[in-house]
Amino acid sequence: VAKAGERGQRVDFDACLLDSTRRSAELVNDMRAALAQGEFTVHFQPIVRLQNQALHGLEALLRWNSPKHGMVGPAQFIPLAEESGLIVELGQWVLRQATQEVAQWMREQPLPEGFLLHVNVSQRQLVQADFGAQVAEALRLSGLPPHALAIEITESLLVEDDPATLKTLADLHAQGVRMALDDFGTGYSSLSYLNKFQFFEVKIDRSFIVAAEQNPRSAAILKMLLDITRSLDAVAVAEGIETPEQAQRLLEADCLYGQGYWFGRPMPLAELRRQRQALATKSL
Ligand code: C2E
Ligand code: MG
Ligand code: MG
Ligand code: MG
Repeated sequence: VAKAGERGQRVDFDACLLDSTRRSAELVNDMRAALAQGEFTVHFQPIVRLQNQALHGLEALLRWNSPKHGMVGPAQFIPLAEESGLIVELGQWVLRQATQEVAQWMREQPLPEGFLLHVNVSQRQLVQADFGAQVAEALRLSGLPPHALAIEITESLLVEDDPATLKTLADLHAQGVRMALDDFGTGYSSLSYLNKFQFFEVKIDRSFIVAAEQNPRSAAILKMLLDITRSLDAVAVAEGIETPEQAQRLLEADCLYGQGYWFGRPMPLAELRRQRQALATKSL
C-alpha cells in the first residue's frame, strides 16, 4: 500500500503530465494557426568556402515569430511538430518559401557556381510517398534548378532500411537534387547506412569542432570524420564555427567549407543580401 506522501507525489506527477500534454496540444494548435496566419519565416545562414569566406550556399532555418510566445526557435517546436505530424505541412511550407526566396535572388543576381540552398527535412517527410513530388513542385514553382538544392537529413533520424525512405532518396537523386548528411558523428554507432545512400555533402557536427580544440583525442576524431567524408567522395562542411582559430584549424585539416556565427548568423535573406553587398563594395 502506498504511503500518503507517495500517493500525493504520484497525483502531482500525473497532474503535471496532463498539464504538459495539454500545453503541447495547445502549442500544436497555435502552430497550425500560425502557419495559416503567416507567422513562420525562414532565416538563412551562409555556408562559406573557408579559404576566402566566399558564399558557397545557404542553410534555410525555420523561425516562428509568435505574438503570443515571442520569437520561438526550432529546437522548441520542431520536436512537437514531428510528434504531431504537423512537420509534414510545415516542412512543405519551408521548402516552398526557401526555394522561392533564393530563386528570386538568383534572378536578380547570378549566384556563384555550385551554389547550394540547404533545406532541413525530417524523417516524417521522407517517408511520405509524395515527398519527391513535393520537392519537384517547389522547384517548378520557384524556378530553382534541382542541382542548386540540398536536402539535409539528420544522421540520428535516418532509418537505413526503411523502404519508403530509400524510395524517396532515389527519387530525389534521379531529379538531380543533392543530399546532405546533417550532424554527422552524433547519431549512429553503425556506419553501414553510408553505403546505401549517396551523400553529396557531410556536415560535421559542431560538437566535434569545439572538442577538437580541447584535446588531441578529439582532434583525432574530427580528423577521422573528415577522412570518412573524403573516402565517400562527399564534400565536408563544418558546422558551428565561432572563431577564426577554428576556421584555420579546419582548413589545415583539409575541410574546405563551413558555417557558423563567425561567418554569419541565420538572418532574413534581405539582411544577408545587404551584408554581402556591403562586403563586396568594401573589397572593391
Ligand atoms: P541544424 O540543421 O544542425 O542547424 C544548425 C543549427 O546551429 C541552427 O540552429 C543554427 O542557428 C545553429 N548555429 C549555426 N552556427 C552556429 C554557431 O556558430 N554556434 C552555435 N552555437 N550554433 C550555431 P537553429 O536554427 O536553432 O536550428 C536547430 C535545429 O532545428 C536545426 O539544426 C535543425 O535540425 C532543426 N531545424 C531548423 N529548421 C528546420 C526546418 O525547416 N525543418 C526541420 N525539419 N528542421 C529544422
Ligand atoms: Mg541542418
Ligand atoms: Mg546541422
Ligand atoms: Mg548540428
